[in-house]
Amino acid sequence: MGSTVLGSSLLARAGSAPKRRKVVVITFGGGARDQETFAPEGQENIPHLMGELIPRSTFFTQVVNRGILGHYVATASLATGVYETINNFASLPPEHPTVFEYFRKDLKRPPSDAWVVAPSNGFNRIGESSHRSYGPGLGARVILPKHLLTAAISGGRSDYDHLLRDNYETPLYAPELGGSEFELQQLEKILKLSVDDFKAHARTLSSPDELSLYIARQLMRQVAPSLLWITMHDIDVAHAGAYSLYIEGIRRTDRLCADLWKTIESEPEYAGKTTLFILPDFGRDADDDSGGNGFQHHRTGDALSRTTWMMALGSGVRQGVVVDRATESTDLVPTLGSMLDFSASMAQGKPISELL
Ligand SMILES: [Zn+2]
Repeated sequence: MGSTVLGSSLLARAGSAPKRRKVVVITFGGGARDQETFAPEGQENIPHLMGELIPRSTFFTQVVNRGILGHYVATASLATGVYETINNFASLPPEHPTVFEYFRKDLKRPPSDAWVVAPSNGFNRIGESSHRSYGPGLGARVILPKHLLTAAISGGRSDYDHLLRDNYETPLYAPELGGSEFELQQLEKILKLSVDDFKAHARTLSSPDELSLYIARQLMRQVAPSLLWITMHDIDVAHAGAYSLYIEGIRRTDRLCADLWKTIESEPEYAGKTTLFILPDFGRDADDDSGGNGFQHHRTGDALSRTTWMMALGSGVRQGVVVDRATESTDLVPTLGSMLDFSASMAQGKPISELL
């Protein structure tokens, strides 16, 4: 009797797929300074991170970005582990293999297992590099929610204008699409979302990042990718010069990150086996640097604009640990490689030992 029970449970275990670790990366807005986020005077702006997520995380207080401080090129650098030097305002792929390519090629994962949800059309090439050993066909699938919404509403924009501004830095830049981005007709097939439901739901949302989160959640439920990268961008409204809008962006991003964590914990495909990373792409200029205008931009390259933070929480990560030694933006990809068991062979950074 006993051996039968044991035998059948062993059989059941052998028959089910191994529990594979998943990773979700969220970039926390486009450029956020410590003093409006986790520094003592900023903590009131991130109540969800402070109260719910940081206590469960290993938190890095100094993540230095030594690359170009433009959002696309900096996010590409985060995704390759190399400080990319591509033109921030051109529709170009990263030059070094992305985390998505390492992941898919080394682990032989299908295209459906690595996805990017990105804020603006300028990010359409971020899913795969131009590197000759990787590149086309080996990258992530990219969803541009604003591009989808534009396609869905062709013509009647007025209800959606607040969601559709492409970026906050160069209003005249309209990149060509034509990478491997997700198209409107795939909405129903892959995300099980009718165009009408998508439009109706978008109307209720207050920001582009809320639209991104809505799409990311749908993706998690319907496709459940093992590697999901979400780039938030609302905070970059700071370029308009209104401090209150910048703070509002931070508060919204704080809430959306906590919402995403709740989704991870409640979705069976993710709960208990997912590691979540949250980090800004970089900071913003210091108030006392005469070369800039404080929070508004990130053009001086001063220490404040280069130094930011990162938190990791969930599967395999120790809780309540604070790490003050400096790490670099380029360390993320090698760390993901160690966690997921692929080799980020061309990345410049090093795996972060506190997370291994
Ligand atoms: Zn910016």
